[in-house]
Parts: sequence; structure tokens; C-alpha cells
Amino acid sequence: MTSFDFLIVGAGFAGVTMAEQIATRLNRHVLVVDRRKHIAGNMYDGFNDAGILVHLYGPHIFHTNNKRVFDYITQYTEWRNYQHRVFAYVDGRFVQFPINLNTMQELLGRSFDPEQMNAYFESVRAKDVTVRNSRDVIVSKVGEELYNKFFKNYTKKQWNRYPDELDASVIARIPVRLNRDDRYFTDVYQGLPKYGYTRLFERMVSHPNIHLMLGVDYREIKGMVPYQKLIYTGPIDEYYDYRFGALPYRSLRFVHETIDQPFYQSVGVVNYPNDYEFTRITEMKRLTGQEHSKTTIVYEYPTDDGDPYYPVPTEESKERYRQYAGLAEQDDGVLFLGRLGTYKYYNMDQVIAQALSVFEKEIVTKYSHS
Ligand SMILES: Cc1cc2nc3c(=O)[nH]c(=O)nc-3n(C[C@H](O)[C@H](O)[C@H](O)COP(=O)(O)OP(=O)(O)OC[C@H]3O[C@@H](n4cnc5c(N)ncnc54)[C@H](O)[C@@H]3O)c2cc1C
Repeated sequence: MTSFDFLIVGAGFAGVTMAEQIATRLNRHVLVVDRRKHIAGNMYDGFNDAGILVHLYGPHIFHTNNKRVFDYITQYTEWRNYQHRVFAYVDGRFVQFPINLNTMQELLGRSFDPEQMNAYFESVRAKDVTVRNSRDVIVSKVGEELYNKFFKNYTKKQWNRYPDELDASVIARIPVRLNRDDRYFTDVYQGLPKYGYTRLFERMVSHPNIHLMLGVDYREIKGMVPYQKLIYTGPIDEYYDYRFGALPYRSLRFVHETIDQPFYQSVGVVNYPNDYEFTRITEMKRLTGQEHSKTTIVYEYPTDDGDPYYPVPTEESKERYRQYAGLAEQDDGVLFLGRLGTYKYYNMDQVIAQALSVFEKEIVTKYSHS
């Protein structure tokens, strides 16, 4: 049986970045195994029956301020320039989100400049709040009214918990802008791979030292494939047979609908904080720029069952993760990486950055000469 230097579980950005580095820089052999039948992890995209390019696991927009990550990934793709814009459907109208001067004008029916918006927030925000949870973050910034319109029910749908039951970090990422910048992200580098994520991944794994085994669960080959080191980007609790209990995740059910008209909505994503059971609708062509007489939209319904997408950040789950991380620290045979391996909400650029840095710290030093 072939012997590999490394066995990598998971063909998402964590696993494939690591495989690419090991193959190209150390000239070592890697076997990448994924239980899905395809590479690219959650970034996987492909053409549907109507011939429209869709993201199978939710809309993915690449954005980063990290030049090193951007330069690294740019070796494998050209880019489509795309600045992501989101509307929220609130009080029967579509308004820009994140909240900015235009949003306030639309909602409150009078014009705002930065000073007036500041003064408004100052008059409505909850004062003397010790920020302990996501509700505290928002009401101490924008007050009850905007909290109720934009955040409270969206969060309940997304997490099945109200913001006061969730760690402050969950909503802390969402900015409020004292200008008219209506872009969802303001990172220096933004875009979508010109020919899709799957093509980008195909290029990353196209190296004679990288071997793929798709549609196979690690547990099916455990003990059968010899290797020196295991790199695991699947769920850490599953790896340790849930011995401290399962780490909670929130999942999504995606419902795709192809409509016989060129466009459905005017921006890539529309959030529905207060209406319907779905949280948002994505129109894929708005992201990819594809020209087609029809269009595909995707509804997202949050659920507890299904693929693990979002780690649920509560004190209890963090403590449980710490127990697993403790086991991992003492386990020399395996390295955990990625969103599932380290139980952390990471964007793509953060996962790539993590893989590049772990490669330098843990792999280059130990495996470049042996
Ligand atoms: C709905 C949604 C939208 C997102 N949008 C964005 C965005 O716009 N921009 C952005 O930067 N990030 C976005 N993200 C985050 C992005 O998806 C993650 O950063 C990325 O997927 C992390 O890569 P990964 O390699 O850690 O994990 P994954 O992509 O999940 O890859 C892990 C792989 O491991 C495999 N695996 C697990 N266990 C096993 C096993 N036992 N045996 C074999 N294989 C196994 C899985 O099948 C999976 O393919 C979004 C995430 C979601 C859920």
C-alpha cells in the first residue's frame, strides 16, 4: 500500500491550503480525504440544471485585508471585481444594511449627516450597560428601536436564541456607519474567483504530490493508510468520539429556485429580519456576474440539524471545546485546523491564514529535512 507523508481530512480551504504548501514547498506526498463527493468544502460551486453557477453551501464572497493571503490565493485564480451589497426588508421596504446614513434617512424619513446620526444614537442608546451579550452590544450602540427592527428577530431566526442569550462576539462584527458607504464589507481586497471556487480548488490540488480520495469518511480508512502525520479539518468532537459531549452547531437548509426572468432583486443578498421563516435570499447571478435569461435565488432556513456550519458561541460550548483542545494538545499524532477543527467562526481568509501560519510553525520546522 502506498505510504503518504501526510493524511489530511477535509478538502476545504484549511485542508487544501495545507496540502498545497506541503506538496509545493516540502515536496512531500499528501492524501486528502473528504466525505463529500467533491473538493472545495463549503466553497463548492457548480452549474445547476438551468446552467446557472450556484454556491451549494451558501453565498461566499472573498474579502480580506491580509495581503499575504490575497497574494497567495491569487496564484490560483483571476478575480471578478465584486463589492457585496445587502438590503434588509424592514417596515415594508428595502433599506441598505449595514446601517448607514442612507438607511436612517429611508427609515426615519429625514436626512442625516454624521453629526446628526451621532446625536441620534447618543439620544437613544442604552447608557451604563455592562456589555455581556449580543443584545447589550447593539442597544448600547443604536438603542432599542433599531435593535428591534434589524437584530432581535434575525438573530432569533439565525440562532434560535435571542441576542441576550448569545455571546457579545456574535453581533459585535456588524458595523454601524456614520457615512454613506453601503458596501457590506470594506476590506481592501474583495471579489469572487472569476471561474468559480471549484476551479480555484482544482488548480490548488493539481500537483503530482497531492492525492485525493473523495466520498470517503476518514473513519472508513482509519488505520488502513500509513502516514507520518494527520491533519484534521473535520469536527474535533467527532474525532474524539464526542467523549465530552457534542459541540453545538447551527445549520442551514438551502432552497434553490430558478425563475424565468433575468433578475429577481437589485442586490446580491436581501435579509428578512422580521418576515418569513427564512433569514435571507441570495441571487447568485448578482454575485457571479453571469449573463443568463433566467436567474436562481436561494432561500436560507436556519436549523439545528444538518451540516455543521456555525459554532454556537456560548460559555458552555466554549468550555466544552477547551476540553477537546486540551486532548488535542497532548496528542502528537494529529493537528487540528479550520472552522470545524478549532470550533471557531472563521471566514475563508482567516482559515487560509491559519493554515499558512500552522504550516510555518508546525510543519516546516519538523518535516523539511527528515
Ligand atoms: C452559509 C455560509 C456562508 C459563508 N460565507 C462566507 C463568505 O461570504 N466569506 C467568507 O470568507 N467566508 C464565508 N463562510 C465561511 C467559510 O465557509 C469557511 O471559512 C470555510 O468553509 C472554512 O473552511 P474549512 O476548510 O475550515 O472548512 P470546510 O469548508 O467546512 O471544509 C471541511 C471539510 O471537511 C470534510 N470532513 C469533515 N469531517 C470529515 C471526515 N470525518 N472525513 C472526511 N471528510 C470530512 C467536510 O466534508 C468538509 O468538506 C461562510 C460559511 C457559511 C456556512
